[in-house]
Amino acid sequence: MLQNNLGLLSAATRTALEQEPRVFIGGEWQTISNSLPAVDPSSATPVARIAAASAVQIDAAVRAARTAFETGPWPRMHGAEREALLRRLADLIERDRQTLAELEVLDVGMPIWMARDLNVGGAIGVLRYMAGFAGRANGRTVQVGVPIPGSAFFGYTQKEALGVVGAIIPWNVPLMMSVWKLAPALAAGCTVVLKPSEEASLSVLYLAGLVREAGFPAGVVNVVTGTGPEAGAALAAHPGLDKITFTGSTRTGTQVALAAARNITKATLELGGKSPQILFADADLDQAIPGIAGSIFLNSGQVCVAGSRLYVDRRIYDEAVDRLARHADAMRLGPGLAPDTELGPLVNARQQQHVLGHLDAAQRAGDELLTADPRIDAAGFYVRPSVIAVADQSAAIVREELFGPVITATPFDSVDEAVHMANDTDYGLSACLWTRDLATMHAVVPRIRSGKVAVNTEPMPWQGLPEGGRGASGYGRDLGEESFESFLETKSVLVRYA
Ligand code: NDP
Repeated sequence: MLQNNLGLLSAATRTALEQEPRVFIGGEWQTISNSLPAVDPSSATPVARIAAASAVQIDAAVRAARTAFETGPWPRMHGAEREALLRRLADLIERDRQTLAELEVLDVGMPIWMARDLNVGGAIGVLRYMAGFAGRANGRTVQVGVPIPGSAFFGYTQKEALGVVGAIIPWNVPLMMSVWKLAPALAAGCTVVLKPSEEASLSVLYLAGLVREAGFPAGVVNVVTGTGPEAGAALAAHPGLDKITFTGSTRTGTQVALAAARNITKATLELGGKSPQILFADADLDQAIPGIAGSIFLNSGQVCVAGSRLYVDRRIYDEAVDRLARHADAMRLGPGLAPDTELGPLVNARQQQHVLGHLDAAQRAGDELLTADPRIDAAGFYVRPSVIAVADQSAAIVREELFGPVITATPFDSVDEAVHMANDTDYGLSACLWTRDLATMHAVVPRIRSGKVAVNTEPMPWQGLPEGGRGASGYGRDLGEESFESFLETKSVLVRYA
């Protein structure tokens, strides 16, 4: 039986867990009597309580953000001043990296090295990168030739902060997702109301404390925790927003987009994925096998860009899937706080049952599980990493996002067939190609219908590279210059000077 290792927590993390349920509105903490448990997925035990806010607190937060935007200093500050505050926040996150990482582990179950290095480290990188944009909201000059005799015109565009932003994020990498939304919005001069998932709010609440410590003006950042149907829906439907930026499932994203449309509120939707990995016969298998495993099994598959469908050149199919299955079976499952854990549990029992149910159904339909029994004897919500051979591309396990450590494997006989199967999905978020042949790579990249293609590497995020999808994976982009631009409005100015 796996132990949860809660005894390894630092004193600062223990203090954070003892906080009474509260939300952060207008620069102040407000205690809320309605609360929800925060459950450690490695032991299925509650470790803290978070506020279950309602539409009342959401409305107060949107009003505070509106006041901060209309009458506060934030949008009027010089970009360099906003940049300095964003950098200060990044420094504070770096100072408290271990506490934030431990809170992420407790909420999501991920290994501590992933929380510390990829999530908290990634959040710091994104803040510093976006800070650099704060003084770069530049318009352009435009030649104007209106045909009025004797007249002369001059035109230019200027960029202005969009306004009040609602941000709704999922549970899988909460600190990083928060910063993906906050950093570009704040750099642009917007104010934000952030609603994390009820499954994973602890590190986001801690982040709110750091926002306060950094000295951001009141109301620039507001954090309201609560359930999706209550707090999330109230935020999405709030007429006081200028933009909603959402990351989560396609089903919820559709509801958010509909609610936003009723107010003509701009929306960015980062939704689910069912991303392909194509393994060509010339690939270096010593590099590709651990890479393919990393692309699907990181965070136990609870990654939007997880490469959950593997297509392998038939000439190397048997060897490749056998090596991948052995690699998966050798991965160390355990509580995220144990330093040698490679794979933690899934976030909750519902997610665990969802993934195991798909695996059971596929096996009942005749698909062959190539890895060990996915169930283990533990109180936590574990699922072993699984490789399953699936021929029928219409099967649910091939078409639906599982958000778990499961990869389907299917052989292909030609590049055309591989591309066809890769694109045969409602989603279009990411793809991985494994090949040493530059000609193959350059021929296939443009044919893949997705927002991102990784070649000979896991599809890890980088702050300068935009993340986002096509089709059922949504629209708009997080990260990169595109994300910063999406929090700006363009104003055209026409000047007659003669
Ligand atoms: P959900 O869509 O269930 O939830 C996402 C967020 O929306 C949560 O904060 C949730 O709150 C909230 N929410 C739920 N119902 C509503 C509603 N009616 N109105 C407004 N908000 C609501 O997704 P998950 O949290 O389960 O996350 C997994 C999904 O996120 C996967 O599909 C994954 O692919 C996607 N994802 C996409 C990424 C990308 O960049 N494209 C990155 C990471 C994940 P609560 O949890 O409290 O109910």
